[in-house]
Amino acid sequence: MEKTISEIQKEVDDWAQQFEKPYFSPLSMLATMTEELGEVSRVVNCMYGDKNKKNGESLKALEEELGDLLFALICMANDQEISLDSAFTKKMEKVYQRDNNRFVRK
Ligand SMILES: [Mg+2]
Repeated sequence: MEKTISEIQKEVDDWAQQFEKPYFSPLSMLATMTEELGEVSRVVNCMYGDKNKKNGESLKALEEELGDLLFALICMANDQEISLDSAFTKKMEKVYQRDNNRFVRK
C-alpha cells in the first residue's frame, strides 16, 4: 500500500519522537541534507559524469541515496512544522501557472 506525504511525515515523526532530542538543530539538519545531496551527486557523477569510482569504493544505489535525502528533508519539514503536502501543492501551482509556457511541449 502506498503512503501519502502526510503519512510519511507522521511515520518519521513517530519514530523521531522516541528520542530525547527528536530532531537535530536546523543548521545540523541543513548540513545533513547537504551531505546527502552530495552523496546523490557522487552516485550520479559516477553513473553519468566523468568521475570514476575510487578503487575498491562501493557506492550505494541512487534510490538509496534519494531515500536518505528524502528522510533528511522530511526531518527538516517536521521540525519546522511544515506540511510537505501543502508545500507540494504550492509548488505545483507555480509549475502549472508561472511555468506553463516555459518548456517546449511534445
Ligand atoms: Mg546517503
